[in-house]
Amino acid sequence: MIKVGVFGASGRVGRLLIEDLKQEKGMSLSTVYVRESLEFSIDPSVLVTNDMHVFLNACDIVIDFSLPEACQLLLEEALKSPKPIVVGTTGLDSHQMNLLKDASEIMPILYATNMSLGVALLSRLVNIAASTLEGFDIEIVEQHHRHKKDAPSGTALTLAYSAADGRGVDLDKVRVSGRNGNIGERSKDEIAVMALRGGDIVGRHTVGFYNDGEFIELNHTATSRNTFSKGALRAAKWLVEKPKGLYSIADCLEL
Ligand code: NAD
Repeated sequence: MIKVGVFGASGRVGRLLIEDLKQEKGMSLSTVYVRESLEFSIDPSVLVTNDMHVFLNACDIVIDFSLPEACQLLLEEALKSPKPIVVGTTGLDSHQMNLLKDASEIMPILYATNMSLGVALLSRLVNIAASTLEGFDIEIVEQHHRHKKDAPSGTALTLAYSAADGRGVDLDKVRVSGRNGNIGERSKDEIAVMALRGGDIVGRHTVGFYNDGEFIELNHTATSRNTFSKGALRAAKWLVEKPKGLYSIADCLEL
């Protein structure tokens, strides 16, 4: 039985992970990390702790859906007590990404800004489309619920990197994430990544390829957060046996 520790347990995805783990064969929830106290009841066999060291020692693998600064604390502690970690937290800055890379040199880490099979496939399709549809303007729009903190979404950025890779350009040099005022004509290489926020939208991403006379739009819509929690459990089962290294959801799904 694989013992799972959930980091970010009281969050929207964390709570679903706890529920989904009850039905999961071969895995069980052994511990949750909380900063203060847990606001909901949990099976008494689960260790609830605010001590990161105790948390890491009480599980075989950690699943993290928290916030960038919390994920950073987790990675810093994991460098002292290595453990396989599935990281689903988005919005990591360059320092936090470097920390994640450092940690993956001593433990297996799977980092995915989106745990869904559909988005993993979409990312592949975007890469192919970007290299095939030469000269088409690439524009990405993402929509999420009003509570989402980072923008553009990690998924939109992953899709943008995939498009930039297909096009052979450096995303950091061509990304546009806002247009306002007299900005002039669209440049040939730019890749726009725009964010909309509202209501309870779980996640919607559209990658458009626009040319004179025709356009293609590839769209993915998540209708339930269970897509992410179930995807993270699938990733955890896969990662727990792996050697140290940094893995993607595409590795896990063999895409
Ligand atoms: P949420 O705001 O509902 O939950 C955040 C959790 O982090 C809470 O449990 C909170 O208590 C915890 N937390 C915050 N600061 C902390 C700290 N300093 N120490 C410990 N815990 C702390 O968010 P959510 O909607 O559940 O999303 C969590 C993250 O996962 C976000 O970054 C979101 O963008 C990302 N996400 C990823 C995927 C994916 O498939 N990879 C899907 C959905 C959301």
